[in-house]
Amino acid sequence: MKITNLEDLFNHTLEDIYYAENKLVKALPKMAKACESPQLAKLFTTHAEETQEQIARLDEVFEALGRKPKATECPAIKGILEEGEELMSEIKDPETRDAAMLAAGQAAEHYEITRYGTLVSWAKLLGHKDVVTILEKTLKEEYGADDKLTKLAETKLNKQAA
Ligand code: ZN
Ligand code: FE
Ligand code: FE
Ligand code: FE
Repeated sequence: MKITNLEDLFNHTLEDIYYAENKLVKALPKMAKACESPQLAKLFTTHAEETQEQIARLDEVFEALGRKPKATECPAIKGILEEGEELMSEIKDPETRDAAMLAAGQAAEHYEITRYGTLVSWAKLLGHKDVVTILEKTLKEEYGADDKLTKLAETKLNKQAA
């Protein structure tokens, strides 16, 4: 895809996050299975379900723009997930492994937050009013997922690992 203007860049970024969400929807259930903490597993499972809805929302965004849903490889989310998987297989202590997975989950949420935040402001700039609300809804959900992970880390997990 040749990027010459903000509209192209917006479209490219939509394809990037579409790729990321499709990776995450597969990774989150695996992470949930590998968890020692039932609370952490629950957060990952719930967010996997939300992620499914987020993909459906992106389908809506593509449709509203008159485009076909398409994924373009996102090296950033690939890297975040690879790093998480590496730690998952290396760390033997279950509590420490949970802390690593929680941190990896947060890294993924933070990536999504930057992308959706950018998409929302570009959609506004480009006058795509119809998709702003849809993207904002997902952005809020990503903030929520991150918040829940932070709370769990602060109240329980990290202490157990320490
Ligand atoms: Zn996402
Ligand atoms: Fe997401
Ligand atoms: Fe990317
Ligand atoms: Fe997310």
